Amino acid sequence: MRTSIGEIKNNEGKEVEFSGWVHARRDHGKLVFIDLRDRSGLVQVVFPPNVSGASDIRLEYCIKISALVKRRPEKMINADQPNGEFELEAKTLEVLNKAGAMPISVDTDGMEIDEEVRMKYRYLDLRRNRLKENMLIRGKVTKYIRDFLIDKQDFVEVETPILTKSTPEGARDYLVPSRIYPGKFYALPQSPQQYKQLLMVAGLEKYFQIARCFRDEDTRGDRQPEFTQLDIEMSFVEREDVMALNEALLIELVEKLFPEKRIQEKPFPRITYKDAMEKYGIDRPDLRTDKNDPNLLAFCWVIDFPFFSAEGGSASGGEKTKWTFTHNPFSAPKPEFMDDLLAQKNIAGILTTQYDVVLNGFEIGGGSIRNHRPEALRAVFKIMGFEDERIDSNFGHMLEALGFGAPPHGGIAWGMDRLVTLLRNEPNIREVIAFPKTGDGRDLMMNAPSVVDEKQMQELGIEIKKINKK
Ligand code: ASP
Repeated sequence: MRTSIGEIKNNEGKEVEFSGWVHARRDHGKLVFIDLRDRSGLVQVVFPPNVSGASDIRLEYCIKISALVKRRPEKMINADQPNGEFELEAKTLEVLNKAGAMPISVDTDGMEIDEEVRMKYRYLDLRRNRLKENMLIRGKVTKYIRDFLIDKQDFVEVETPILTKSTPEGARDYLVPSRIYPGKFYALPQSPQQYKQLLMVAGLEKYFQIARCFRDEDTRGDRQPEFTQLDIEMSFVEREDVMALNEALLIELVEKLFPEKRIQEKPFPRITYKDAMEKYGIDRPDLRTDKNDPNLLAFCWVIDFPFFSAEGGSASGGEKTKWTFTHNPFSAPKPEFMDDLLAQKNIAGILTTQYDVVLNGFEIGGGSIRNHRPEALRAVFKIMGFEDERIDSNFGHMLEALGFGAPPHGGIAWGMDRLVTLLRNEPNIREVIAFPKTGDGRDLMMNAPSVVDEKQMQELGIEIKKINKK
């Protein structure tokens, strides 16, 4: 039975089997030393001359050994290594698989390597400790969230469709052609917004999902075409309830999983959009008092955003102004502006229930209380200049659903990639995503997007008119 390197301490003086990769090797003629690596750590192995094959093994070979676990003499303890007080004395060696010459080294943090090469060989890149740790801690963050919401708060985790209908979240949709209905398309969800609201109509009351979202945006910094949200929706809540639950979860999660971090201020300070713009010139201020401290976390809430903004920038409020929503068309206005919304007046002055949670100058989440009465949702689209016909064809299902006793509800979504990036002090979200795409949407490892078979295109009834060769 295999023993993992992490269990070495319990096996002193015993001969046990280990399997892993050759992380480093030093051939001293008679004796061959290697550092053996598995997911749980590293340890030095010494191969005496009677173990055959030791001088043939190379970096990143996958090997199996049986070895005696020995404590190193006091003077030779490597105090800076996790298993520095131990050494394995190999008795047998089996090469499970050879490795070719490595295109990238995996024993550094990788920052010195061209990122496109790292992405092409991502399965090797993930062997490096920094990325492995990012994957492990990310898994723990999701588990912590699940345990908190399900066990402590009585939430239900529900999966919503990936093949769905075009939604108005504000970005371009990824479209999927239907083979059975030629000329028709599914869209990949920009977020599960409508489904989660419909789950509230269904009476589930407290929903969450670790949801994949897709937005077809032009290259923008370190965005990804697909990303992960913690998506939450709750019934019979007001703004304060959603904010309180999320604040409690964020604080607990940071304090339990990242004890080295310090939260600058609890409860999180709250700033209105107006104050943030006047004081900091930005709606996601970085409130850290010491920006050189990598372990300081300055959370804040930004609230009281305007509901609508004038497209093209002219907010004169005149009859011809074309309005669009600033955050989410499904949001409710603050209660004192409901009459204005229904009457479609004072449009520039209407404030939304939207709340954004900001960490060290990055928006890590946002949500709102929703319009749960159909006439209020219709008024939003009317203000945006939609004719009734268009409202009914695009959002008829939502308006109809709200008309069947939809409860008051609201929710939020966190950007999981961004949150983990900040908690791990990583420079961009690609470092915490197992298989990220380039800024311009390419998967260099799988080589996607790619041309497909002519037969597949025919089945879909699709013909490419003109290809812009890049
Ligand atoms: N659906 C919103 C978003 O993706 C979040 C929310 O309001 O719950 O940004």
